[in-house]
Amino acid sequence: MNSTVTISPSCADASDPDSISVAQALDRIEATITALDEYEALPLKECLGRISSESVDSPIDVPGHTNSAMDGFAVSSVSLPTQDINDFEEIGVAYAGIPFDRVCGDNQCVRIMTGALIPEGCDTVVMQEQAERLENGRIRIGTGHRTEENTRRAGEDIEQGALVLERGSTINPAHLGVLASLGIGSLKVWRKPIVAFLSTGDELVSIGNPLKKGQIYDSNRYILYGMLAHLPVEILDLGVVKDHPEQIRQTLMEAAAKADLVISTGGVSVGEADYIKTVLRDIGEIEFWKIAIKPGRPLTFGTIEGSLFMGLPGNPVAVMVIFDQFVIPAITKFSGAMASGPPLLKAVSLDKLKKKPGRYEIQRGIASRDANNNWQVSKCGQQGSGILTSMSRANCFIVLAENIDGVAVGDLVDVQLFDWN
Ligand code: AMP
Ligand code: MG
Repeated sequence: MNSTVTISPSCADASDPDSISVAQALDRIEATITALDEYEALPLKECLGRISSESVDSPIDVPGHTNSAMDGFAVSSVSLPTQDINDFEEIGVAYAGIPFDRVCGDNQCVRIMTGALIPEGCDTVVMQEQAERLENGRIRIGTGHRTEENTRRAGEDIEQGALVLERGSTINPAHLGVLASLGIGSLKVWRKPIVAFLSTGDELVSIGNPLKKGQIYDSNRYILYGMLAHLPVEILDLGVVKDHPEQIRQTLMEAAAKADLVISTGGVSVGEADYIKTVLRDIGEIEFWKIAIKPGRPLTFGTIEGSLFMGLPGNPVAVMVIFDQFVIPAITKFSGAMASGPPLLKAVSLDKLKKKPGRYEIQRGIASRDANNNWQVSKCGQQGSGILTSMSRANCFIVLAENIDGVAVGDLVDVQLFDWN
């Protein structure tokens, strides 16, 4: 009798020959998805957080005219003393928005406020702190001044015709300010993708119902809601579906009819009740990936009736990691935004971290600054993919690339701060 057990690759293995790398998975997401081709023009304020579908060239110079950067006295540089002093006759005042409308001659000056147009005949502003008002009313100025000092040249910030906003930019408060400074009151942005999500699992109970033996509350829909709420998308919560192929099939078909992207959690492993893959083979185009990442190895990716589908694993920590690593890039591509991976910083590890080479690992950490203001990171308790409090106590991911073979105390590691904190 043969007394060995033939074993299959599993998520307990450090490496699995069937797995694709994180970079390969990201490349396939990038290659499969095309941006939605629908736009809307919105009033400027409503564009905050949205993705611009047009680039903007400035219709005007900003500032429109050369003006003063300081409160002081506008003079012609020709009259500035090259030695000793010169006493100027003050002939008027220029305010921001109220120009001085006569010509200023040699050895004359105009009292000028910040933002006021430089009067005709002047090219330089001497700060008021560097000028002396004499008892006879004249203004005394010494040496050491430079032609055009304390002036802001027309077009110095933005020249007419200059590119001020790239297509695909996520509109932030600075963009709003720049567009407002150009008098632009509305912008074309990409339509928000509609993202539907559902949980699958016979053991799941919605909040408000008592738990029977063996049941758990569904937390993944709350996680997904929280992670999606930060993004420029419309959210559709489709509730909990039992591990029942026909119910899953119906819900996914309905979801695909309403949404641009459908996300499910659970039911993508190799258990008896894991029906997502089989249902999807039936109703859509499916790629099933095992990604060399811990946690969160299985990910189903594909299309149902023209909508995108991503089937995430059930474990809540894996849901957060996979969402962060793969769903966000998918939504980014979908919504026309310029891709920019999350910023990573280097931090000194305060703990020894166990890690086998062969797969990408995302551990949960608590990052802080040391006495010299340098980043340091400690690990965040138990790291099991079922331990959701490891996420709620953490403020960052510790990102360990495939080839890393453990981390010693004092080693530098890559840290990705949570942007939902
Ligand atoms: P599955 O991928 O369906 O095998 O689920 C893996 C693990 O995650 C199981 O322990 C599930 O009970 C758990 N799980 C699945 N879905 C959820 C959910 N929506 N909320 C909380 N835990 C879940
Ligand atoms: Mg399940």
